[in-house]
Amino acid sequence: MAGVRARVYKSTGSWYVVQTESGTVYQARIKGKFKIDKAIRSTNPIAVGDWIDMDIEAVAEETGIITQIQPRKNYLVRSSPHNRFQKHIVASNLDQSILIATLKEPRTSMGFIDRFLVSCEAYHIPAVLLFNKADLLDDDELKQFAEIRSRYEAIGYPVYLFSAEQGTGLAELHSLLQNKTSLFTGHSGVGKSTFINKLMPERDLRIQEVSEWSGKGMHTTTFAEMYDLPEGGSIIDTPGIRELGIIDISKQELSGYFPEMRVVQGHCKYNNCTHLIEPGCAVKEAVREGRISEERYVSYAKIYDSIEERNY
Ligand code: GDP
Ligand code: ZN
Repeated sequence: MAGVRARVYKSTGSWYVVQTESGTVYQARIKGKFKIDKAIRSTNPIAVGDWIDMDIEAVAEETGIITQIQPRKNYLVRSSPHNRFQKHIVASNLDQSILIATLKEPRTSMGFIDRFLVSCEAYHIPAVLLFNKADLLDDDELKQFAEIRSRYEAIGYPVYLFSAEQGTGLAELHSLLQNKTSLFTGHSGVGKSTFINKLMPERDLRIQEVSEWSGKGMHTTTFAEMYDLPEGGSIIDTPGIRELGIIDISKQELSGYFPEMRVVQGHCKYNNCTHLIEPGCAVKEAVREGRISEERYVSYAKIYDSIEERNY
């Protein structure tokens, strides 16, 4: 039996929809002893985006047995729905992680945006912010957007404004996504599905059909699904995922995931400065002098308070 390499597009419980490099779609599963990365300690052994090796079981039925998982370049997690201290790998081998946000209808809170960015920093995934529903913004709101854009671009995050429905700003986004694997996330209602449908007017129906077949009669726990873009590259949609995990992040390391704090915190008087109450804090000084945005500092303090320390 020849081993082939394939990438995981969808997980439906015990079955995985995978696609080989030559484009054939298989249903694959794990059997017997399977070496997993114990260091990650996630609730799922295989995630969307993984590259796997597989033995073809039945060519006609396009089924296979996963024998090995290739080392992951990176991955993103969320906390497990069953145990918030356990993590579930949402997707792996990502080139970028994209948050779709809106200034109105609904308004994405700045705190939520900052939590997203912290997760991406913690897992070393380049983050991008896309604001949808440009068509709804009046002059004041456009000014607000410009402030937000400069705040985030100053600390290294690309920010875009577009309208999925009207098609404005889409050309730029096509080049942002081309030949990359991009994870999409966002609160429901921001227009993520509208956007994905615009990107893929002719979705790969075959993958759709196959995955429906595998989901039949099973308890499906699908949270992420990958699609190939017509112009090259893939996107991973994350329906049902409300938030990526601020899991595994300690209070002590949090400021290291704020790029603008990371560069000044070496100048704090105390080594273990929390940047909240200590005198001689370089972070607070930077906030006072306007080099660090107050909104971002507020997010830092809120996330800091939300972290429950655990003894492992
Ligand atoms: P999802 O929950 O993020 O997948 O959001 P949907 O794609 O279902 O969109 C939610 C609502 O926002 C729908 O009523 C869409 O028609 C609307 N919507 C999506 N994109 C735009 C846009 O660019 N402008 C406006 N005004 N509405 C939009
Ligand atoms: Zn400090």
